[in-house]
Amino acid sequence: MHRKKTALTIRVSIAAALTVMPASFSAAAAEPAFSGASALEYTRRMVSFGARPAGSPEMRRLQAWMLAELKAFKCTVAEDNFTASTPLGPKAMKNLIARFPGTSGKAIAITGHYDTKSMPGLYFVGANDGGASGGLLMALAAALSGRTRKDDVYLVWFDGEEAFAQWSDTDGIYGSRHLAEKWAAESVLPRIKALINVDMIGDRDLDILMETNSSATLRKLVWDTAAKLGVKKHFLDLGGAVEDDHMPFLRRGVNALNLIDFNYGPGNSYWHTDKDTVDKLSAESLGVVGAVLLETIKELEK
Ligand SMILES: [Zn+2]
Repeated sequence: MHRKKTALTIRVSIAAALTVMPASFSAAAAEPAFSGASALEYTRRMVSFGARPAGSPEMRRLQAWMLAELKAFKCTVAEDNFTASTPLGPKAMKNLIARFPGTSGKAIAITGHYDTKSMPGLYFVGANDGGASGGLLMALAAALSGRTRKDDVYLVWFDGEEAFAQWSDTDGIYGSRHLAEKWAAESVLPRIKALINVDMIGDRDLDILMETNSSATLRKLVWDTAAKLGVKKHFLDLGGAVEDDHMPFLRRGVNALNLIDFNYGPGNSYWHTDKDTVDKLSAESLGVVGAVLLETIKELEK
């Protein structure tokens, strides 16, 4: 993921707040239907494919594995293929979309990216940045499978979130920009009650910031839901503006929220470095986010 300069000051405030924040979480508070352990295992499997930049052979192998895994669930899976123009030339990209059908005609989307930043010369597997969001969505698919529901639930794995050169309006969030345009053309966007994007939510010291580009009402719903589940301590009262895969939807008027923990390791030193490995993650953190998302879906369906 990437953030804008406006949020740089937030890093310091979060670091200060963290010193007084308890880091433990009792898994008993999490909804049993979502398994943080399963989310961590999916993340581990996805990371095992190695560095997974958009358009890479490793990414293609990961996609084939995910498509096979998703066959186990009661959902329809669509491959949204497109070619992105990047500073490194055209790249073949693929968003994966799992749809769990409801009956209301309305829809809820939970999204996250599954590519990793291309870091030539560096061992970078993106366990938290690209891995955790992908793995959490796989476990969410397992939790949603076979349930009757009111609204359609879309799970979307975005390709090409990371910039190839320098983050800009044209380099980065390729998958979400593509899908927002496609869903606008197909009149899917007006059906979406809420879109919640997750990024870097596997950190064992989980502290999700109040992302200020996001919809305030949707953010309040999620924060209130976290409080109801007894996990509010992981959802900070500190904010910052972060550009992420929710932006193309926000810009088209969708009620959208980004859940991101942008304080990963001391001074965010694990972010976009070879320290972003699976040992920095925890099943508890993934369990908290998964449980809050499932409960929020229920609230939105009311
Ligand atoms: Zn990133």
